[in-house]
Amino acid sequence: MEKFITRTEKIPFYSHYEIIVAGGGVAGAAAALAAAREGKKVLLIEKSCILGGLATIGLVNYFVPMCNGRGKKIISGMAEEFLNLSIRYGYDTLPDDWKNGEPEAPTNARYVTRFSPWIFALALTELLHSTGVEILFDTVVTDVIMEKGRCEGLLIQNKSGRSFCTASAYIDATGDADILFRAGVPTVQGKNYFTYQGFSVTVDSCRKVAETGNFAFLNARLVHGGCINLYGHKQPENVPLYKGTEGDDVSDYLIRNQLLMFENLKKQPEKSVDLLSIPIMPQFRTTRRINGDVTLKENDAYRHFADSVGAICDFERRDFLYEIPYGTMVRKGFPNLITAGRSVSGDGYAWDILRVIPPAIVSGQAAGLAAAQSVDSGTALDSLELEPLQRAMAKGGNQIHFDDALVPAGSAVKADTFADIGHI
Ligand SMILES: Cc1cc2nc3c(=O)[nH]c(=O)nc-3n(C[C@H](O)[C@H](O)[C@H](O)COP(=O)(O)OP(=O)(O)OC[C@H]3O[C@@H](n4cnc5c(N)ncnc54)[C@H](O)[C@@H]3O)c2cc1C
Repeated sequence: MEKFITRTEKIPFYSHYEIIVAGGGVAGAAAALAAAREGKKVLLIEKSCILGGLATIGLVNYFVPMCNGRGKKIISGMAEEFLNLSIRYGYDTLPDDWKNGEPEAPTNARYVTRFSPWIFALALTELLHSTGVEILFDTVVTDVIMEKGRCEGLLIQNKSGRSFCTASAYIDATGDADILFRAGVPTVQGKNYFTYQGFSVTVDSCRKVAETGNFAFLNARLVHGGCINLYGHKQPENVPLYKGTEGDDVSDYLIRNQLLMFENLKKQPEKSVDLLSIPIMPQFRTTRRINGDVTLKENDAYRHFADSVGAICDFERRDFLYEIPYGTMVRKGFPNLITAGRSVSGDGYAWDILRVIPPAIVSGQAAGLAAAQSVDSGTALDSLELEPLQRAMAKGGNQIHFDDALVPAGSAVKADTFADIGHI
């Protein structure tokens, strides 16, 4: 028989906001910033103690390609602003062709860079704080209060204990769709391979930094627990796939990985290596996402969506272009909830295309602007008028639809499916 306790408690009210963003990864930071720039009163709740999520505490300090692989920029807007911010005060590994923006001549060099995770985190805090976003660190969103499909508030927990905060619109940028799941929004559970990579330093790598003056060499030497890539090649047979959304499963993943990393460290010549940084959050790629009104598919390459909020590119394959439909971020029947980042609706490899850092920032910016427009117009997020949102995204520097001239010869530009699926 299941054991449980019941108790009744009085939970103090914390405060009311126009918009609450849960999760301060790159998507949540973008959402909060976009909403605050629209003049909204915004609270950003983050369970760790710095911003950036996987991109900083998860040590994934690499902006994947934001171009088509032929020298044409596809992703700009707030994603490019964050890229520039991430390298403004620290090292970069931008290819020379991209050092001064989009190259004049075609190039195979991709628009990518590594960055210092800690400097990026501090720069995000400065930017959001100075824009008026209220940040609540070291605070977990533990539950939601729902009334007829509408979110009436979030329960949060921190050093002050448990409290309750309310907003007109809520953005779930937890990466794990924590709020949506608890709100009863249909979600899809993913599986995760055994990956846990940090950075180590040796006397030689320190010497290289001294010789070159380039700190990028400090964060270049990987140290591993599990090292399985996103395709799962060589996933050990005796290691389970992890959900990343249950306490025991997350702890088992962390303990196994930390012990393996320590074993690997002990194989090095004694005291020849130090650990510069190890992941402070689990390196799970696909934990849980919304089952949105629209789910992007891998074969949606070169498909225009009438509800696109931004054009994006495939981070591995040159030329492959996609759009992020607004319908991947919302679900009909949940009027004041929206998601962004790695919990938007994508199937298989399309989920990978949507979840990496630049597209996560695009959907974050779109969620922040959508929430602001929803508050202003009183229109529900699941039936928002899209033209003003697309105008605001374009004003924020994004291409809404990819340029057909960049579609390789022989590939068909696919017709919009928006009207067919009856979204909004
Ligand atoms: C191993 C690995 C390698 C990768 N490599 C790359 C790469 O090279 N380049 C690239 O572009 N992308 C890469 N990615 C993907 C990319 O890092 C992430 O998908 C992206 O950073 C997701 O951003 P996000 O803001 O959506 O989510 P997250 O970064 O997961 O942010 C979610 C935030 O919410 C907080 N949070 C979670 N739950 C709660 C809660 N209940 N209450 C309050 N706060 C909460 C978390 O602490 C976190 O800060 C990689 C991912 C992994 C795991």
